[in-house]
Amino acid sequence: MNEDIKRKILQKIESYGTIIVSRHIRPDGDAIGSTKGLAKILRDTYPDKKIYVVNEDYSEQLSFLGGEDTVDDEIYDGALQIVIDTGTTDRISNRNYVKAKELIKIDHHIDDRPYGDISWVEDFRSSACEMIADFYDTFKDRLKMSTEAATYIYCGMVTDSVRFSDESVTSETLYLAGKLLEFGIDTQTLFANLYVTDVNSLKFKSYIYDNIKITPNGVAYIYMDDAAQKKFNLTLESASDVVDELNSIRGCLIWVAFIDNKAKQQIRVRLRSRFIGINELANRYHGGGHKMAAGATVYSEQEMQALVDDADKMLGEYKSTNGGWL
Ligand code: AMP
Repeated sequence: MNEDIKRKILQKIESYGTIIVSRHIRPDGDAIGSTKGLAKILRDTYPDKKIYVVNEDYSEQLSFLGGEDTVDDEIYDGALQIVIDTGTTDRISNRNYVKAKELIKIDHHIDDRPYGDISWVEDFRSSACEMIADFYDTFKDRLKMSTEAATYIYCGMVTDSVRFSDESVTSETLYLAGKLLEFGIDTQTLFANLYVTDVNSLKFKSYIYDNIKITPNGVAYIYMDDAAQKKFNLTLESASDVVDELNSIRGCLIWVAFIDNKAKQQIRVRLRSRFIGINELANRYHGGGHKMAAGATVYSEQEMQALVDDADKMLGEYKSTNGGWL
């Protein structure tokens, strides 16, 4: 698929001496895994090139994946910038990306606002890491994969596909993940880093379960206000993880976490769903994303309630015209 674009990307990579790789803000395992994974492949394959992973924010939770690079502005002169897993330019975690000579976009989000001199977007992919694994697989005679690079990429595939349970997972996803395992990934350590938790977080879970609200048609939601964040000593990022706790309530095909960002006077919204698409709903509230995993921003508790009401109405309509949901 898209063989010509991949070939063009490889040609560009081979023609540049300096390559900067960036991802989206508020990184997840896929954003970090895909950028660090590609960078490691390129460093090992082209030891004479200067390859940097440059971003403006970082993830405490994913710090086990290691750090990124800091570069001077001159590095961008005549350089190639590759941005991965980032649907729109406003979400690029590197404002300096504009200073590079050329820009390549590699992404698996819906391509609403295309950018880049070369753009390789496959929105059916379960993760951007799957695309990097595919890129490697296409050019495996030329590129070098290491255990480290395979671990980054596998990490993104596991996390973005929710441990290979997302509907976007295909036989090719599993084929590519299987190929990565051949490079000796320590999956036990990786999974422990990703999923082992401490007792305090269990207390936090108990708070969540006590505070989940469910609308008449089955939208599950929770509001992590400033007081709750303080009570459990949460960062915005760890408070945002709350969305995953709502994902398996029978009859709740839409679930939403609202996370108060007091400093910015806005409320981050994380929307998830099963069977029914919620990205258009996210679009209406200053956001976007995938069919069943999207994000938005609201600016008041009234707007929060309006989003919940809209979601409830959508779900009511869905349930009245569709059967077979759990
Ligand atoms: P999140 O809940 O932040 O994990 O986001 C789920 C998906 O929606 C991700 O693929 C994001 O790229 C996308 N997304 C989140 N927030 C926004 C936003 N404000 N605008 C557009 N897309 C978003």
